[in-house]
Amino acid sequence: MEHKKTFINGEWMDGTSGRILQSVNPSTGEVIAEVRENSISDVKAAVTAAKTAFYEERTWRDMDVQTRSDILLHIASLVEENLENIAETEAMDNGKPLREAEADVDDAVHCFRYYAGLIRTPKEGVYEVNGNFGRMHSMEVREPIGVCALITPWNFPFLMGVWKLAPALAAGNCIIFKPSSETVLSTILMFEIFEKAGLPKGTVNLVIGPGGSIGNFLAESADVDMVTFTGSTAVGQSIMRAAAGNVKKLGLELGGKSPNIIFADTDLDAAVEWAMLGIFFNQGEVCCAGSRIIIERSVKDEFVRRFAERAERMTLGNALDNPDMGPLVSEKHMNDVLSYIELGKQEGARLVCGGTRYTEGKCAEGYFVKPAIFDGCTADMRIVREEIFGPVATIQIFETEEEAVRLANDTVYGLAGAVFTNDAARAIRVIKEIRAGITWINCYNPAFTEGPWGGYKMSGIGRELGTHGLEEYQEIKQINMNLTPGEPGWYQKR
Ligand code: NAD
Repeated sequence: MEHKKTFINGEWMDGTSGRILQSVNPSTGEVIAEVRENSISDVKAAVTAAKTAFYEERTWRDMDVQTRSDILLHIASLVEENLENIAETEAMDNGKPLREAEADVDDAVHCFRYYAGLIRTPKEGVYEVNGNFGRMHSMEVREPIGVCALITPWNFPFLMGVWKLAPALAAGNCIIFKPSSETVLSTILMFEIFEKAGLPKGTVNLVIGPGGSIGNFLAESADVDMVTFTGSTAVGQSIMRAAAGNVKKLGLELGGKSPNIIFADTDLDAAVEWAMLGIFFNQGEVCCAGSRIIIERSVKDEFVRRFAERAERMTLGNALDNPDMGPLVSEKHMNDVLSYIELGKQEGARLVCGGTRYTEGKCAEGYFVKPAIFDGCTADMRIVREEIFGPVATIQIFETEEEAVRLANDTVYGLAGAVFTNDAARAIRVIKEIRAGITWINCYNPAFTEGPWGGYKMSGIGRELGTHGLEEYQEIKQINMNLTPGEPGWYQKR
């Protein structure tokens, strides 16, 4: 078993809370590493380190953009060199199939390179204005926000971290990073890379421990200028309240219950496989998962038959053996998902396949749940309304385009959604009606660093990735310069 440390003010250290966090491999139930959790006083030290690095030492903040960008490119190359090690660690810690972990790390490399490039092409408007006070030159400049607290979930531990770290660093901020306690190991590898790449002391700090105490402390701290959070909507609301004290900048990427609308004119086999990617990719532990399949009545039975047939043939197994699906992240989460499956049956939905654990063989040791499909679902059921965050698809039917849109939008969430149809005009018509920030036509789940990522409604505030992702971590300032210095002559001299 490996012993791991946290990273504060440029030093590796054992947390001083007295609590030990054990990392469990969900494929086997074995403890693979442990780390001593940080106390609140450790977190205060991390905040002080970031504050000193930003406001006093200023090395990262004042570094010329070319050098800062080169360091980010170096970080990208180090991540790329360590891709196998990071991906294996992620697969063992989180349970995602190895090839999915590899794709995450590959995306992370791309993300560092993207933001390294973006800061070399500044987006700063310069214009001349002629006002009442003579010729003026007006400029718009971007500046870092300051001390940023980054709090992340366990479903894409490495990638969700990098979606925040890469733009926050590119913008010149200093950071305190708190990963989910379920999956800390790949983040520790990320910090080893930061150290190797020579980030100035205090620029990045890693704290580990419970969200309710140390995460909440960061969200409340008057010394933190921004908190950016990816996780559940309930915790996002609590962070929003905690952040109100000093009106800190806020970024929230929250939960979802996204619709996948399928019209009868579509290629049904293609829709089946995309629906599988939508809800079974990463074991369904995906914020934008296509968990609500809303399908035209005339093809529903045939779709469900083919969907269930393919779901039943999916392989489950140790994440390192590259199955179609790995285990859920923890025993607790597996039990939560199994409870939802029981609830679905009680609510009157028909479980067509899956939804159970293994009782024998290797999979019985880990936290596996077979991919589940519920037919006969209605809009009032909790399995249709609440985020299950596991491999559980619900099926609802519609007869008209209007009904499909109404069912799709009948949720407090607004993260993602998709439509499958061969009618291009209808595809655009329907997508434009979906109240969600990430949408697909005739596919489900592909995501790109270049595109904006975020939700409508209770799925969040702000956007990650793309050019918006950098702006999240920047303050915008206008500078107005008088081109004819002297007395303005506004008031009469008396
Ligand atoms: P979670 O909300 O339980 O925890 C997320 C993080 O917040 C963890 O680091 C946790 O320790 C911390 N935390 C918990 N309580 C806190 C508090 N009171 N104050 C501050 N921090 C606190 O979420 P999870 O179970 O780790 O992840 C699953 C959720 O994340 C799902 O709802 C999923 O939809 C969402 N998610 C959203 C996106 C997105 O881009 N919108 C991406 C991935 C996951």
